[in-house]
Amino acid sequence: MRFSQTLIPTLREDPVDAQVVSHRLMLRAGLIRPLGAGIYTWLPLGLRVLRKVEAIVRQEMDNAGAQEVLMPAVQPGELWQESGRWEQYGKELLRFVDRHDRQFCFGPTHEEVISDLVRREIRSYRQLPANFYQIQTKFRDEIRPRFGIMRGREFLMKDAYSFDLDWAGLEVSYQTMFAAYQRIFQRCGLAFRAVEADTGSIGGASSHEFHVLADSGEDVIVSCDQCDYAANLEKAVSRPAEIADTGAVAVPAVERVATPGQKSIEAVGQFLRWPVERIVKSLLVEAAGEPVLLLLRGDRELNMVKAAAALGVPQVTIPEPERAAQWAGVAMGSLGPLGTPLRVLADREVPALADFVCGANTEGWHWQHVQWERDVPLPALADLRNVVAGEPCPRCATGRLQRHQGIEVGHVFKLGDKYSQSLGVRVLDSQGLEQTLVMGCYGIGVSRIVAAAIEQHHDQNGICWPVALAPFQIALLLLNPREPGEVEAGEALYRDLLAAGVEVLLDDRDERAGVKFKDADLLGCPLRVVVGGRSFKEGMVEVQARTGERAERVPLAEALATLVRLAGR
Ligand code: ATP
Ligand code: MG
Repeated sequence: MRFSQTLIPTLREDPVDAQVVSHRLMLRAGLIRPLGAGIYTWLPLGLRVLRKVEAIVRQEMDNAGAQEVLMPAVQPGELWQESGRWEQYGKELLRFVDRHDRQFCFGPTHEEVISDLVRREIRSYRQLPANFYQIQTKFRDEIRPRFGIMRGREFLMKDAYSFDLDWAGLEVSYQTMFAAYQRIFQRCGLAFRAVEADTGSIGGASSHEFHVLADSGEDVIVSCDQCDYAANLEKAVSRPAEIADTGAVAVPAVERVATPGQKSIEAVGQFLRWPVERIVKSLLVEAAGEPVLLLLRGDRELNMVKAAAALGVPQVTIPEPERAAQWAGVAMGSLGPLGTPLRVLADREVPALADFVCGANTEGWHWQHVQWERDVPLPALADLRNVVAGEPCPRCATGRLQRHQGIEVGHVFKLGDKYSQSLGVRVLDSQGLEQTLVMGCYGIGVSRIVAAAIEQHHDQNGICWPVALAPFQIALLLLNPREPGEVEAGEALYRDLLAAGVEVLLDDRDERAGVKFKDADLLGCPLRVVVGGRSFKEGMVEVQARTGERAERVPLAEALATLVRLAGR
């Protein structure tokens, strides 16, 4: 491809509103341009990279025995009503009506559509197992679209859905997809980890996420430094500490103490001279319209996803202050478990506190020297908090947990009969009996992978593409497009490389050499080849790897063979 005839609008300066490196570099290298919030056009170079990711994903899906289909992006609302998600899905679902006033949505995912296809077309166990996939544009009206195409509203996803007669079959389908995902991310040249993930309110099922490790990642993943335990923060647990024998400790009598104006846990701790880990933090949340008081150690963070799972609701939220005050009869900062009329749920760690401080349900007052059972009944327990780096691993004897930032690029999920039940996806088994199918679903953020790859592979001058994703293997720079000898040699090398199947971007622009070098670094092709200047007069071309230290000089006559070899053709 010729630079002079391709739209590659590179930018010298960092765009002001791009917060992460991949977003900045994708704009600066002219890979994408925004059209609206979370909506982007892929320009020629960006599209080449996207197509590379797609090709790897497609190959591995085909190899794993999945069948490619292409479902409609626009889906009838009725199907979503049948599955029950029309009400549940919330504002991420972009809904609209057609000219006949029928409800539609733009697909954020395709469980309903594929279930509809399978219930109509697959009748017998003999047609199973089956796995269908597509690579298609999705739309999710994300509350906070950001980081460019990393969290877009419109994005490209590979979604696959497996159908099996029973759970044993699903297990096989799931493992096949899991292995295919590992190959996909390896081939893309990414450092990644598969982690156990939360399955929300669907009990029993299991799920793994694939994360690309990067500091800009929006997710926190937890892993053991000794064994292979790894989980998303929403799921990760640590080995519970030994519960202290509270009976053995002589706890002074419980006492109500004034804490005027002390709003935060830290402030109360300082004021009363108690360490924060011995203050019980009481948080009021709303779960399915009902108030619940959650208790945690003062130094711990609440994990809302765990709280929702423990309460068996799709999500919990922090209520508006007025609503909270109405429920609790007191401001949020003064809540506590003693004498509360609210439903109480405590983190598993809380019973270990033998002698603690908590809010007194009266503004400006706390209780101190509180003891479980003596002063307040021990509430129901659940895992409600985020684990902290350095805690003991729940799986092995010696490991410690570490926390990393990750970008979720893939997700595999055992759905079970969640959709096949509600949508009636059944076949006849070998006995002629109707069986509800067991489903799995498997997503990959195809467009997000492009951003994730840049997060992992860049330097201060630009992108350093992994070979498999590079838009071109070689950037061929013609230093002096007005020197007939150089042009002739460069053009010949370009033609020969193309004929040998090497992907080359020929920088034939009438620009200064400095501009071409800068752009070559920015665009990040694995090899840069320079034809021109002193080397050319000496019968040489200069070859430099994007991540290499120095350029090598190769005789022009050997350039083709050397480059074909280096480009791995
Ligand atoms: P997230 O937690 O990042 O919102 P999700 O759990 O909603 O992801 P899934 O429904 O599992 O995502 O979708 C499958 C894959 O699609 C994700 O693993 C991710 O790589 C990609 N993806 C999801 N939302 C977006 C988005 N807004 N922009 C780009 N890619 C996305
Ligand atoms: Mg999401």
